[in-house]
Amino acid sequence: AYSQQLATVGASSQYGGRYTVTMIPGDGIGPELMGHVKDIFRYAGVPVDFEEVQITSQEGDEEAIENAITAIKRNGVALKGNIETPHDMPLSAFKSRNVEVRVRLDLFANVLRCKTFPGLPSRHGDIDIVIIRENTEGEYTSLEHENVPGVVESLKIVTAKNSERIARYAFEYAQRHGRKKVTAVHKANIMKMGDGLFLECCRKMSEEYPNIEYESMIIDNCSMQMVSRPQQFDVMVMPNLYGNIISNIGAGLVGGPGLVPGENIGEDYAVFETATRNTGKSIAGQNVANPTAMLLASSLMLEHLGLNMYASLIENAVYKALADNKIRTPDLGGQHSTMDMVQTVVKEVEAQAANI
Ligand code: ATP
Repeated sequence: AYSQQLATVGASSQYGGRYTVTMIPGDGIGPELMGHVKDIFRYAGVPVDFEEVQITSQEGDEEAIENAITAIKRNGVALKGNIETPHDMPLSAFKSRNVEVRVRLDLFANVLRCKTFPGLPSRHGDIDIVIIRENTEGEYTSLEHENVPGVVESLKIVTAKNSERIARYAFEYAQRHGRKKVTAVHKANIMKMGDGLFLECCRKMSEEYPNIEYESMIIDNCSMQMVSRPQQFDVMVMPNLYGNIISNIGAGLVGGPGLVPGENIGEDYAVFETATRNTGKSIAGQNVANPTAMLLASSLMLEHLGLNMYASLIENAVYKALADNKIRTPDLGGQHSTMDMVQTVVKEVEAQAANI
């Protein structure tokens, strides 16, 4: 029953064969990348209409976030850029809008697949790791207070309910995708109760999936293993903050923040964005950002909607632009612009569409 439920998560709004998806452009390079997604969807004839809503990180802009959440609830699915979280604001304004969206929509699983890109040189080859990160609690509860001046308590909350849910998701994912192993990542030797509970939930869950190998690994060793022998990993499951770090290592291993897409999945809604959720403020508006991660995120979104033909059309075009046309934006050590990449993807989309 659970797999059935997972297969139908994120009910979407569909009218006359067209889908409506919420688009949250975000800050930095977000808006320009969204523009490229829209252009490519137009060329590919994708039957998706975007309902654009912006969220700002300005204090007191509660209406914007309420509107965005209502829009995602209505459409079921969103494509999102990252919203800047300023570090230099008073304590009360510290809360990240990105975290708020994930928590309010109960997008409990962050899933990203770090797979070696064909034709892109990298230190390690043959990587195919799926990182599944608990996305709503742990260190991201924003529960912090200063007891007395100079003493701050920062609360990390771990619940059996959410730990079991993410563990179940990881094993179900492994089973559905023919994966062989799940690695639970933790620091239960130090955080005996919090991480201990997470780890125990994963171990118990593994008993229900005897065909999938289960192992656990401490986060420090895991970080080292990731950069020295990443091919050993298959599906990985972990609490929120370790997930943040391991995701960045994973994306770095296959080419960096401009390449890898990510999904935030809940029982009712799904939000697609780049894996490492960067704002890229310093490179915004310069025609240098790598659009790959956002384009692949849009392809995952199409797959989620069941528009598999369009999803592969865009995914293949992106892979071809990188592997065959050797488009290399500056983050990949090249001199191509964002537009060079977008135009090559459009050409590939048109070439493929002509063959259908
Ligand atoms: P800034 O906002 O100045 O970019 P930051 O520390 O917030 O600083 P992030 O947005 O977190 O940076 O991004 C981390 C790094 O990855 C930055 O150097 C950024 O330029 C780079 N980066 C992120 N996304 C992309 C992309 N799509 N293409 C190329 N580089 C990217």
